[in-house]
Amino acid sequence: MNVGFVGLGHMGGAIALNLVKAGHQVTVWNRTPEKAAPLVTLGARRAESPRQAASGDIVISMLADDRAVEEVVFGEKGILSADAGAIHVSMSTISVELAERLAAAHAETVSPFVSAPVFGRPAIAMAGRLTILAAGAPAALEACAPVFSAIGHRVFQLGETPSAANLVKLCGNFMMMSAVEAMGEAMTLAKSRISPEMLFDVLTEALFPGPVYETYSQILIDAAYKPARFGALLALKDMNLMAAAANQSRVPMPLLGVVRDHLLGAIAQFGDDVDSSAIALVVERNAERAA
Ligand code: NAP
Repeated sequence: MNVGFVGLGHMGGAIALNLVKAGHQVTVWNRTPEKAAPLVTLGARRAESPRQAASGDIVISMLADDRAVEEVVFGEKGILSADAGAIHVSMSTISVELAERLAAAHAETVSPFVSAPVFGRPAIAMAGRLTILAAGAPAALEACAPVFSAIGHRVFQLGETPSAANLVKLCGNFMMMSAVEAMGEAMTLAKSRISPEMLFDVLTEALFPGPVYETYSQILIDAAYKPARFGALLALKDMNLMAAAANQSRVPMPLLGVVRDHLLGAIAQFGDDVDSSAIALVVERNAERAA
């Protein structure tokens, strides 16, 4: 297929590479143009603007946050100014509110809109094994299938309302951070009598098998808070998006407040480059002060 790709950061660069490898004709654009060079060497075309990247069958955006997506979509030479009718697949982790605005704006044009945020870090993206949460019109989702199969190992189809996929993504990240908070509190309490290795060996086998507990318990055991895999700043952005959704729907979420405050504490104490799992370290330091 003729696929445009906008946003060649850690995630986007890896996803676009897999599209090139799968034989799609890929046209790339990035705010910092140098990041497109390795893909161009491998056969991708360079677009001069997001609008030009949106001149094929599909245009995928994978950008940092709401502001970036707004600029790239609604800007003067943005995706929405293209008239080719490309399906816009938005993979960034953005607010529910922006996803709703994007869906409404695309509905005024000939370009269908699909929300498709993902679970999986850059290494998973590089391996083509992302989990894709997709929502949009059935015909548009069907047309995206060859692209999704090149970059992910599982696609969850979540209905016709695009913002539902964004909400599932945010709920997933909130539950992941809540699990790390719980692990950090349990480890801090238990470590005077049992090693973190033994504690988590028992708990992940007996009660909590699965990727989140297994991955993060090892990070806590190793105290591997730098370099960041899923950075505290990105996680804080997601918890703020979750809080906005909770406010909009008037749902009290006290646990979300704890996780958000500990992320802020982790950034303040250990720097912008710390991993999100350092919320466990905040719990440990608080306990040391209280002792
Ligand atoms: P990243 O490496 O920081 O890349 C961000 C991308 O957004 C870059 O291409 C950057 O362009 C672009 N960008 C930022 N501000 C912009 C603006 N104002 N106008 C135009 N382009 C702009 O981030 P990432 O790790 O790839 O994450 C991308 C998205 O995936 C985020 O929404 C993130 O929450 C989500 N996500 C990340 C992970 C993860 O583990 N990293 C996992 C799942 C989902 P420049 O190159 O010019 O800076």
